[in-house]
Amino acid sequence: MSADCIFCKIVAGSIPAKTLYEDDEVIAFHDIRPLARVHFLIVPKAHIETLKECTAEHQALLGKMMLLAARLAAEQGLVGYKTVVNVGREGGQEVFHIHLHVFGGGPAA
Ligand code: 5GP
Ligand code: ZN
Repeated sequence: MSADCIFCKIVAGSIPAKTLYEDDEVIAFHDIRPLARVHFLIVPKAHIETLKECTAEHQALLGKMMLLAARLAAEQGLVGYKTVVNVGREGGQEVFHIHLHVFGGGPAA
C-alpha cells in the first residue's frame, strides 16, 4: 500500500468505487471518467507502479487480469471489447498503480 496512491485507497475502501469484482489479489471497478459506454479497470491489490516493474513472479497475476477482463466483459454484455495498459508517463499513464483498462459498448453517453 502506498499512502498517496488513489488506487491503494480504493483497494483499502477509503475512497468509494463502483466495484464489479473483488478477491484477495485483484479488484475491478468502473472508471470515474468513462471513455466508452462500458469502461472498467482491473487493478491488482498490491501496489505495483507500472508494467515495467513486473517480473516473472507477476506472470500469473497478469494472466489472471486478462482472463478476468474476458469474464467481466461478458458479464457486462460486451460481445467485443478493447484492453489497454498505459505504461509510464510517456505511455499515457496517469495513475501509477498498474491497471488494465477494458472498453466496450461504443462511445460514452
Ligand atoms: P491511466 O491514464 O493511468 O492509464 O488511467 C487512469 C484511469 O483511472 C483514468 O481513466 C481515470 O479516469 C481513472 N481514475 C482516476 N482516478 C479515479 C478514481 O478515483 N476512481 C475511479 N473509479 N477511476 C479513477
Ligand atoms: Zn497503489
